[in-house]
Amino acid sequence: MKKRGLATRAAHAGGGGPPLGPAGERSHNLPLYLTSNFSYPDSASADRAAEGEAYLYSRHANPTTEAFERAIADLEGGEMAVAFGSGMAAVAAATFALSAGGELLVSESLYGGSTELLRDLGPRHGITPRFVPAWETERVRAALTPATKAILVETISNPMLRIPDLPALGALARERGVALIVDSTFAPCLIQALAHGATVVVHSASKYIGGHGDIIAGVTVGDRPTMAQVATFRKLVGAVMDPLSAWLAVRGLRTLPLRIERQCATAARIADVLATLPNVKKVIYPGRTDHPDHARGKTLLTAPGAMVSFELPDGPAARRFFDRVQVIARAASLGEVASLLTHPPSFSHKALSAEERARFGITDGLLRLSVGLEDPADLEEDVRQALAS
Ligand code: PLP
Repeated sequence: MKKRGLATRAAHAGGGGPPLGPAGERSHNLPLYLTSNFSYPDSASADRAAEGEAYLYSRHANPTTEAFERAIADLEGGEMAVAFGSGMAAVAAATFALSAGGELLVSESLYGGSTELLRDLGPRHGITPRFVPAWETERVRAALTPATKAILVETISNPMLRIPDLPALGALARERGVALIVDSTFAPCLIQALAHGATVVVHSASKYIGGHGDIIAGVTVGDRPTMAQVATFRKLVGAVMDPLSAWLAVRGLRTLPLRIERQCATAARIADVLATLPNVKKVIYPGRTDHPDHARGKTLLTAPGAMVSFELPDGPAARRFFDRVQVIARAASLGEVASLLTHPPSFSHKALSAEERARFGITDGLLRLSVGLEDPADLEEDVRQALAS
């Protein structure tokens, strides 16, 4: 059967429930199985659950969570997905499962929490992280050694919005027999990284996928053998996504293509407005021709994302702007229906040293805007007034 379009598949994400009554009627919406346990009619059926052939306990598997996993696997074009209690748990599971006992090449432009995880906990758990400018494939190639087990990048990086050359990295990873782990949190449904050679795609579903700022969740997608490894890690660490969050994430998924399309369009408009305003030293948006990865983004992504970073002259100017916004909310995260503004040196990248921040281009004047679904004119007016005076 012909594969239907992304928006159609998203609108039907999760499906409905099993037949309920004599007419075959069923819940049109996804049922929420808010249960820790599953019970059995007899010992033979309990034995089947213990053998892994049936539901046993929601830390192992739950039907609502599985519906979310199937929907994400479908959107990413992967065989199987494994859902987690947070994006960080998903990043940890993928990196620990695929690079333990070896080296992990880590992009220098990454969410600060991921950098901190691998820099601080990696070596204690048998992973040697080495930081590389992942958007320069030749630098990645030069950094590979026989001990390298995996490479970790973000499709659009946090907060510098760098876009690595995924097809080239995918080919390099295949050639050298290492795993390529791609965090696509900033580009949900803008790219299918597995088709470009990623071994595993990771998302923080707390962001665009949930979309409403009401869950903390994560997910990994890949082939069955790799996901089986990641699922074992999840089961034993207990970093599982809860069924209520899975249900909310499925609801979020249904509008994801529509939200992201509108958010990307508004982000492009706000980026262009910011570029005309006095005191804005630099606008960082992959949709603009002055972005270093503009051409690559145009080839790889269906749209340049809905995150806009920009630099004001210094820390005090950034803090003043932060204090003055009225429509945009001051908050740490991103990807929800409301626009959110963060100051990366004070929030997402606070745990990095001043030297690391400088090396990764995160200046004190840097702000990161997650563009939401408000009327674009109101957002435009908000950034104008926050910069005036
Ligand atoms: N990956 C990226 C790119 C992020 O921006 C974040 C959070 O900001 C995470 C992973 C971690 O996700 P969570 O907050 O759901 O643990």
